[in-house]
Amino acid sequence: MSIFSGIKDLLGQINRIDGSIYMQGKNFADVYARNIALEEEIAARTKELEQANQTILTLNSVWEMMNSSQPLSNMLDKIINILHNDMGYSFASILKIEHRENGTSYFSAKAYSENQSINKAFEIVSEAADTYELPYILNSIVVKAIIERQIYSTPDIKGIVQMFFPSLADEQLNEIISGMHSKSCTIVPLHKTNDAFGCLIVSSDRDGLTDTEMNFLSLYANQIELAITVAGLFEEVKKQAVTDPLTGLYNRRYFEETITKEAERSVRLKQPFSLVSLDLDYLKRINDTYGHQYGDLAIKTIANVLKREARSIDVPARIGGEEFNVLLPGVDSKGGYTAAERIRKSIENQVLDTIGGVTASIGVATFSEHSDRIDELTEMADQAMYQAKLNGRNQVKIAAAKPELNWKKTAIDTFMDIIAKKRIPIDEKTAEKLNEKLTEIRNENEQSNDILFSVVDMISQMYNRMYKEGTTKSKQLLAVMLAKKIDLPQTEIDKLKLAVLLYDIGNIMIPEDIFSKKEPLTESEKEIIKRHPVIAAREILKPISKIQDIIPIIESHHENWDGNGYPGHKSGIEIPISSQIVLLVDAFYAMAEDRPYRQAYSIDKIIEIIRKEAGRQWNEQLVEDFIQVIKTKS
Ligand code: GH3
Ligand code: MG
Repeated sequence: MSIFSGIKDLLGQINRIDGSIYMQGKNFADVYARNIALEEEIAARTKELEQANQTILTLNSVWEMMNSSQPLSNMLDKIINILHNDMGYSFASILKIEHRENGTSYFSAKAYSENQSINKAFEIVSEAADTYELPYILNSIVVKAIIERQIYSTPDIKGIVQMFFPSLADEQLNEIISGMHSKSCTIVPLHKTNDAFGCLIVSSDRDGLTDTEMNFLSLYANQIELAITVAGLFEEVKKQAVTDPLTGLYNRRYFEETITKEAERSVRLKQPFSLVSLDLDYLKRINDTYGHQYGDLAIKTIANVLKREARSIDVPARIGGEEFNVLLPGVDSKGGYTAAERIRKSIENQVLDTIGGVTASIGVATFSEHSDRIDELTEMADQAMYQAKLNGRNQVKIAAAKPELNWKKTAIDTFMDIIAKKRIPIDEKTAEKLNEKLTEIRNENEQSNDILFSVVDMISQMYNRMYKEGTTKSKQLLAVMLAKKIDLPQTEIDKLKLAVLLYDIGNIMIPEDIFSKKEPLTESEKEIIKRHPVIAAREILKPISKIQDIIPIIESHHENWDGNGYPGHKSGIEIPISSQIVLLVDAFYAMAEDRPYRQAYSIDKIIEIIRKEAGRQWNEQLVEDFIQVIKTKS
């Protein structure tokens, strides 16, 4: 912009005119006419100066915005509003190129000035402006401007609107265009460092584009590009950050990543870890009484205690405003309590400027004693912390013991859920009958399990015509005998009892003719059958939250000790012990019953077969224990 040379030019002209008055002695009328011309020129130049001034102000306000670390979307909105309100464009919008998974592209409107006509277009296509996918047309003037990094201007407003809203009828288009009050449309390419970002589109009631305007738009575009780039970098840095700026402790994101990894490690090494959840007591009162900076001081003091008390492998983190977590790898609930108590005392002993002292309430939950799911563990630690608050604050509480699984009640609820939500195909009449039975046992709290097993029998008969009534009950009995023989804890036995009722339910999704086939199964039929553990676990049972602990048992009930099973090819101790028990019991009953292609085997024959498979299908020790159980049983 040559404001100064303009002024110089102007002064030069004045001098020249002055000179001509004196030197050539022209008459007054002549001078008068020249004066008028001069005044006009001064007015025009003043206008230019004002415009230049406006440009500088505008660019400056964008610059200031960028230093205020606002979210990018706010900035782009403001940039667009400046163009629309201060610079007099009838419409302005920033479009970003987006890529679909299939490789095609479209534009999304990142910001646009309020314009009734354009709003109408979105209304007609019944899409919100921020979700509408504006077509990306390769040979269009818009894409050309971006690819060639050139500013293009066109009087063909209709063409542009039509391109972006191809479904509009001609008369709708005409109405929209007449409402836009625009004679030209200008496309300014936007790049983020070297990549095409998209473009700025402005329309105005002026015919074309003057050089000055072009200059302004390109400067303005530079500022937008800078804003986009800075915002991108800012996001990147934020994403990489692992610490909380006020306290220097780890932040929530890092903590969540770490606890997930710790849970995996804990399962692998069969080691516990404890989660300490801490909340400052009465922080609101501190803020209200002494001011926010003293609230911050209390937070920082606690953070310093956590840093000091932590072993090098512990992970202390600030999770929210006044909420802290500490992850203690390898520590059981007893150790977790001791550590938490040490932290609590240390906080209590701090002497803070003006406030005096602070205290905190602490909850502890241990993996997998309290839960082997992170979300549940976190919830339990929070609940314990809340109990500490209720109990008078400044104390440590351990999470409540895992509630005993009432296998029978859970089984009833699970079958009711399966039927009510139609998770398996059952005709209305059967569904009603099953539901009646289940409601009966649930309401009457009946002691015997017979009705429940009759429900299981009915469902089993739906997918297995050869199913003999009472088999599931016998299987459960045998499974429990083996579980007791190997000293499985009672909580695990209860899960096993449930797993026995549900493990084959996936078969209901398998075509019936495969089951009743007399000839050996083809490879593809075998593949279909092999899907049933996965179907049961993932499709039918996954949505039922109560039985999440049972699902891994079911999903692995066809895995073999040597890794040759399905579906996960797990081997050895990777396979849940209860899955091995289910597989053994299932095999036993399969051999003890007639099949379409063979007669039932004798107990001795079964023992012989199972022994042969020891080390392959099953763990050898488990097979020996099982054989002892069947021998004492028969
Ligand atoms: P309680 O003992 O039940 O936890 O009482 P409390 O007042 O600590 O808890 P409450 O949840 O009622 O209020 C929490 C307060 O913590 C409100 C919020 O303004 C304040 N707070 C959260 N983050 C910060 C922060 O970073 N600095 C300061 N100074 N205060 C914060
Ligand atoms: Mg608090």
